[in-house]
Amino acid sequence: MTIHDLTLAELRARLDNRELSAVEVTNAYLERIAATNPDLNSFITVCNETAIVEAQAADQALAAGEVAPLTGLPIAVKDIFNTAGLRTTCASRILENYVSPYDATAIARIKAQKAVIVGKLNMDEFAMGSSNENSAFGAVRNPWNLEHVPGGSSGGSAASIAAHQAAAALGTDTGGSVRQPAAHCSVVGLKPTYGRVSRYGVVAYASSLDQVGPVTRDVRDSALLLQAIAGYDSADSTSVDTPVPDYQANLTGDLRGMKIGLPKEYFIEGLDDDVRKAITDAAATYKALGAEIIEVSLPHTAYAVACYYLIATAEASSNLARYDGVRYGLRDENAEKLIDMYMQSRAAGFGTEVKRRIMLGTYALSSGYYDAYYIKAQKVRTLIRQDFLDVFEKVDTLLTPVAPTPAFALGEKTDDPLQMYLSDIYTIPVNLAGTCAMSLPCGFSAKGLPIGLQLIGKPFDEATMLRTAHAFEQATEWHKRTPKF
Ligand code: GLN
Repeated sequence: MTIHDLTLAELRARLDNRELSAVEVTNAYLERIAATNPDLNSFITVCNETAIVEAQAADQALAAGEVAPLTGLPIAVKDIFNTAGLRTTCASRILENYVSPYDATAIARIKAQKAVIVGKLNMDEFAMGSSNENSAFGAVRNPWNLEHVPGGSSGGSAASIAAHQAAAALGTDTGGSVRQPAAHCSVVGLKPTYGRVSRYGVVAYASSLDQVGPVTRDVRDSALLLQAIAGYDSADSTSVDTPVPDYQANLTGDLRGMKIGLPKEYFIEGLDDDVRKAITDAAATYKALGAEIIEVSLPHTAYAVACYYLIATAEASSNLARYDGVRYGLRDENAEKLIDMYMQSRAAGFGTEVKRRIMLGTYALSSGYYDAYYIKAQKVRTLIRQDFLDVFEKVDTLLTPVAPTPAFALGEKTDDPLQMYLSDIYTIPVNLAGTCAMSLPCGFSAKGLPIGLQLIGKPFDEATMLRTAHAFEQATEWHKRTPKF
């Protein structure tokens, strides 16, 4: 087995017994990135120099016996995380040359363990999108089929892990951006409960929905990376001060007494037949493993996409007001008046989808429409959250599809924003409810494209969700398949 085929846990064992050094591991990944990135375009920045320096520091720590769970492990991060000394573009022209003076908390935490950051990953501009086609740095391709999208907005995160360009990645999920690309690329993507992981230093899209999450090759690695980034941070006022359990210790394989709910509103028209079959088969696997499968109802599901596109765009229009050419990023130097400088900098710096979202959000927040749209959406959001709290009185976890179809072709939905928005129909309700969910490999379509299943957990009960995911993974072989790339 070559170095870049090893999981975080496998690399950990080989670094600890000195079979490999962190510098060897890092070099293997940098070579793999150099060989594959021209086809995939999953990296915006590759850290050829800094990664080696970090790996040398990790080797010194290993030699001194100062080992943390991530010491020396190669991790790539979505280009939405502020990283001191490395540019953070958010895949936008407006931040093309922006270098943050500080690290996001999630970055600081993995750096404190001496993980090695191998690069910054491509994404949809400001995390707005479901296909990674909205990047100012070009689309990312799906390693399972280069003519298909990897999903979005963390498309670089999912593609890089599927193609073994890094051992693990960090992404963000506002309406499905970790889970949907993970499903399309056959890797594991986890969105923690809102407040579980600090958002400090993560470029804000929709602040009441954004969460940081790990993208990994298997469930154990997901537990390992979540462990490193989870927990209270005084720098994020929405981070929650509640104990973080030992996630790996929870991976017992024991599902006895577990109740798994299938929400009937998720098995509707528009759900692809191959996806439906894969999820039905997954439910059968769970039953065979001793879980009880129960049909449940989340009655307000049909309103989730509309509700999300009011709240997310409203928050985005407010968050993106800070890109005015004065304090950050691109500035139009030719403007004569201040107002022209604002307008021309924003016109030149933002892409089409970002502009569309800012306009939608500004409209929803404007006087006369605020009550009809924004306040109404907030009320619907409460009903959606209540749906989840009600079903979690009856079941421990929910099992659903991640996306209605496998990965679509490049260009297939770029002219139809509404079709693109519907890609997230099964992931969006979770962000509105603020609870946790994850995506894991559960099959392939007739055309050979990956299918993912979604597990939705109770608020702050990532541990039970991970245990449920791990048991499925142990019983199946899907996660072992890799793209011939
Ligand atoms: N596709 C959704 C959107 O465009 C979700 C994106 C995300 O989770 N960042 O808003």
